[in-house]
Order: sequence, then structure tokens, then C-alpha cells
Amino acid sequence: MDEREELLRLRAELKEHSHRYYDLDDPIIEDSEYDALMQQLIRLEERHPELYDPESPTKRVGGTPAKGFAQVEHPVPLESLNDVFSKEELLAFGERVERERVQRTYTVEPKIDGLSMSLRYVNGVFTRGATRGDGRVGEDVTENLRTIRSIPLTLPSAPPLLIVRGEVFMPKQVFEELNLKRELDGEKLLANPRNAAAGAMRQLDPAVTASRQLDILIFNVQLADGMEFQTHSQSLDWLRSQGFPVIDYRLCSSMEECCSRIEEIDEEREQYAFGIDGAVVKLDSLADRQRLGSTTKAPRWAVAYKYPPEVRESVVREIQVQVGRTGVLTPKAVVEPVRLAGTTVTNATLHNQDFITEKDIRIGDTVSIRKAGEIIPEVLHVVLEKRPPWAKPYFLPDTCPVCGAPVHRDPDGAALRCTGAECPAQLLRNLTHFASKDAMDIDGLGPNLVKALVEEGLVHSAADLYALDAEQITRLERMGPKSAENLIRAIDASRQRGMARLVYAMGIRQVGVSASRTLASRYGSVEALEHASGEELQQIEDIGPVTAAYITDWFAQEQSLHLIRRLQEAGVSMQSRETILDRRFAGMTFVLTGTLSSMGRDAAKTAIEERGGKTASSVSKKTTLVVAGENAGSKLDKALELGIRIIDEREFLSMIQ
Ligand code: NAD
Repeated sequence: MDEREELLRLRAELKEHSHRYYDLDDPIIEDSEYDALMQQLIRLEERHPELYDPESPTKRVGGTPAKGFAQVEHPVPLESLNDVFSKEELLAFGERVERERVQRTYTVEPKIDGLSMSLRYVNGVFTRGATRGDGRVGEDVTENLRTIRSIPLTLPSAPPLLIVRGEVFMPKQVFEELNLKRELDGEKLLANPRNAAAGAMRQLDPAVTASRQLDILIFNVQLADGMEFQTHSQSLDWLRSQGFPVIDYRLCSSMEECCSRIEEIDEEREQYAFGIDGAVVKLDSLADRQRLGSTTKAPRWAVAYKYPPEVRESVVREIQVQVGRTGVLTPKAVVEPVRLAGTTVTNATLHNQDFITEKDIRIGDTVSIRKAGEIIPEVLHVVLEKRPPWAKPYFLPDTCPVCGAPVHRDPDGAALRCTGAECPAQLLRNLTHFASKDAMDIDGLGPNLVKALVEEGLVHSAADLYALDAEQITRLERMGPKSAENLIRAIDASRQRGMARLVYAMGIRQVGVSASRTLASRYGSVEALEHASGEELQQIEDIGPVTAAYITDWFAQEQSLHLIRRLQEAGVSMQSRETILDRRFAGMTFVLTGTLSSMGRDAAKTAIEERGGKTASSVSKKTTLVVAGENAGSKLDKALELGIRIIDEREFLSMIQ
């Protein structure tokens, strides 16, 4: 391919990556790889000025404003930054700037890996916030920004119009907790805090944004009507006095000083609450900035120093296997400690068996390891010349190192997975699934409470839930006697959910809600299912050979039988309930109000749900029926107002007969 073709190909490739990164929040390459491609394109464009294109990714900022949000024009554009990747390039920037006889004072700031925002204040009141978008037009995300607690909504003494710019980010800790929750809920994990923050900011419902606990640091005054600052640092100090959370800056009077500060930031980065992808060096004098001006995309008076993704060699001492919360076995190389991107690295992920086999990684090998930003270090390749003669190929075990159950390879991927029903490594995930709505539907027993119960050592298996008492539960944080009583009641109610839900709750792979129902109606009891053969199972519609094998393997294990036995002893029903296939209330939404004399609220709710109906806590146009017990209150008035049918307890009982 000649250079011109290469240039055009790179433009198209970078455009596609930009679209994935900015518009879809779903990048497929590392930032450092993107930066390397961009540098190649910059060099090619320098050599081929005849192929100038204002639409080239080297000339454009960000993505396109998303639909669903109003568009906001930025009176002062939100520019990007030019990148440098080495000390030499930084010094060259310094020389270029200082040729213009500027004051040699710079600020050096961490470059937060988040999303650029502009915030507008009119007479000291926060009125509008917008994303960067393409730098000129962004998306109006005012309501979402209001959910960020550190943003001051009013300022003590601001000019009539003030526009500031900052970086919104998801604190690293919040990101980790969010991903833990997603993992437990079986959702796709978020790639990194930046994408997580971008996704949270683009929510149409501000309540969802609020739940993501975003934060912001302000790093620039874009416009301050009638105010005269001499320097950038002065303007940042003033912003701080107005109550803004402001970026931490350091004044440096030479490029050498800037370099030391950049190194320090690299060393400190682990302690920051946010992820960084570099440091920003900016000329401090605002008059000098004005003189230097900007190119189409970025100012001439600032650069972003991007830390290189560091690569170092180390020796693999051993390979350990971790069992994740979903049962996946992940091998990791334990290596001789090595300093990498500001931290001491002692292990690196090997992903899975295919990765080890492909790269032929052996214990004793010298490997090169990369760590880019906040990402877990990974092995890039083996340094074959340094392989000792005794190095042996490695294979993952075929039983789980935590519980000893057999390990299966996922039919659709490279992951090896433990099949133990009571595997301690999977306890959190298994219990959360067991208690979930479509499974045993234990009201109030969500991931956080499950975590607390496990951490306190109160449950080691789903069967232990049925032995909990109120006194044990009240020992947990934020669990008063009332909540404890409710939980015990909900656990108790789950004893009668019947076989279909129980089979689903057991978490046998590929056995979802519908397959569980089919199995329950076909076999009638867990005991009968336990003795079903693979061939027999395959005769059932919707059950293929793979699922049939998962079922028979599951019932062949000691751990599974132990769990069933204990659940049975705890009084959990193992029989199918005919009502499970009863869909008489399908599509109907009930609201319960007042006291029912013959059954509790939970029992009534269960009776409705088992017949395919739903319950809601308040009356709306979507309500089909209101069941009114003794002392029914305002819900009844609302139902009358909306003309919704109201029935009493007797009628309800006859409906569920
Ligand atoms: P940039 O992110 O490299 O730099 C500009 C941004 O830095 C500004 O928008 C600003 O919000 C932010 N910033 C953070 N702290 C700052 C501070 N203290 N002072 C000033 N600005 C600060 O440039 P860009 O044009 O937004 O994005 C390009 C980068 O995005 C690439 O370098 C790449 O790393 C990444 N990217 C990755 C992919 C991918 O597919 N992985 C695709 C597109 C872009």
C-alpha cells in the first residue's frame, strides 16, 4: 500500500474508533494504540499536504452530540490538547513557546481521564451544563450535572455570566463497586471508569446518573464577564474561593521543573480518586496565551504529556488459578516484583488456557509485561532466548482449585468454569441469583445484603438462609428489628415457591426460567428430575443435548445433592405447583390496599405472581384491579377517581381458587 492509501485508511480507521469511543462509549482498542495510530496519521499528513481534509481526525474534536439531548452551542469552544509522548517532545514544545518571548511560568496538572463539561452560571446561579460534543456544539446535560454533589448551584460573588470547564469522572472506587454489582447481576462489565462516566452522563433519567456517584474537578475559566485575571493559576484560585472543586495545579518556572512534576504525578497516581491518562502543561500567563492562540483543534500554549504504557521484563515464578464470582477460572502469572507505571507489579493476568497455549507461557519463562494506566498488567510475550531448559508447558486443572468440582469449558468461548453448586468462590453470585425475583424471590435480599451476610460468616450456602434468626440479622449494619423481621418473613415465604423456581434458583447452566418451568411440569418433583437420564431429557422440547448434559452433570455431583438435601430439611418445597403454569392473571396488574384477614400481603402477592400477574405499590392508569381489604386508604380514592375496578377480599379469594 502506498503512503497515500495508508493515510486514507488510517483516517477511516481512526474515525471508526472515535465513533465507538465518543458516541457509543464502547472502545475496542487501548487508548495508547489509538494514540499511536494518530501519531502515524499526523506524520503522513505532514508529508502529504495535498491530501488536506478539514474532516480528518487530526483536525476534529470529540464525537457528535447524541440524540435525546438538546444541543448547546459553546460561546468559547472546548478545545482538545496536542499530545507529547517523551521528554524530548515536551522540551521541543517549551522551545517553541519560549521563542515567542513569553513568561516562563507553567502550570502542571493531572490529566483526568473523564469527560469534558462546560458549566454556565448566570448571576451566580448554575443554569446550564453541556458536554464537549464536537467542541462547538455539545449536549445539554444540566439535570444530570445537578446530581453531582460537588457542583455548587449558587456562587457567593460571581460575575453576571461565568462559564467554567471541568472534567467529570467516576471515582475509581465507585467504578469497582459498580462493576462488582454488575457481575453479581450477570450484566456486562464496564470497560473503564471513563466509559462508565460517559454512559452515566448520557442517561435520560437523572436518577440513574445520581446512582452512579460521579464527581467533577474544574480546570478552566472559559468566560467571566467583566473579570480580569492575569494568570490561569489566579483564575483557579478564584474558582476555589467560589466553592468549586478545582484541579490540583503546581506552578513551575522551567521545563525541567515541569518534567519533575510530571514524574511525581506518575508516582502519585495510585492515590488519586480518579484515573489519569497524562499530565497537562499550560502556560500560566493569559496574555501570552492570547498571543499564541490555537490551531483548529488545540491551543498552542498547552500540551498533554501522555505516560507511555510501560513494558518491563520479569520472570514467571508460578501460575496460580483464581475462581471468579461467576465460577470462571482465571490463571495469573506470579512474577518477580517489577516497577511498572508507578506501582510494583507482582502478578499479571493470563486470561485463559487459550492465551497461555497461544503464547506458550511456561513457569520459569522471562516475559514482557505491560501496564497501561489503570488496567491490570498483562503478559505481552515470552522472551524465548531466556527460557530455562526445565520450563514446562502449563495446563489449567480440570477440577476447581477452590471446591474440587469438575470444570467445564463454556461451549461458546474459551472460559473454563467450575460447576460446584456450593463453591465458596461463587457464593455471592449464587446467593444473589437464588434470592432474585425470578428465582426464590426473597424480597429485600439484594447483592448488598447477601454480601453482608457472607462477610459476617452467617451463610455458606443457600440452605443456611433458612436457619437465620432475627437476632443474627440485626447485627448487620443498617438492619433494625423491623427489617430483620421482614427478611425472615420473606425467606420463610420462599419455602413455598415450588419446583420451577427452585430449579431456576439452583443456577444450572443454560437452565433459565422457561426451561425450569418445563422441567417442573414434566417431572413434578426435584427427586424425579434428579433421576432423569440425558436421553430422556433431550426428548423434551427446548432441552438440547448441551443443556441435558449440564442437568445430568449437576445432579451427579455430591455438592448439588448435599444442597438439595439441606434445602429439603429446611422445609423448602421440592414439588411442582400446578399453579406455576397457571397464567390466568397474565398481563394484569394488581394493587393491594388495606388489611386482608385471611392472608398476609406477601402471600397475596405470591398468589398473584404465581398466576402470571404483577403487583404494583401505587394505583395508576396501568392498574387492572385494586384488592381492598379492611381500612383501605388513599389508594381506594385514587382507584375510584381513575375508574379502576375494585374487588374485596372474598372476590379475590374466589379468583385465585
Ligand atoms: P484528550 O482526551 O487527549 O485531551 C483533551 C481533554 O483532556 C480535554 O477535553 C479535557 O477535558 C481533558 N482534561 C483532563 N484534565 C485536564 C486538565 N487538567 N486540563 C485540561 N484538559 C484536561 O483529547 P481528546 O481529543 O478528548 O481525546 C483523544 C484521546 O481519547 C486519545 O488520546 C485517546 O486516548 C482517547 N480515544 C481513544 C479511542 C479508543 O478507541 N480507545 C478513540 C478515540 C479517542
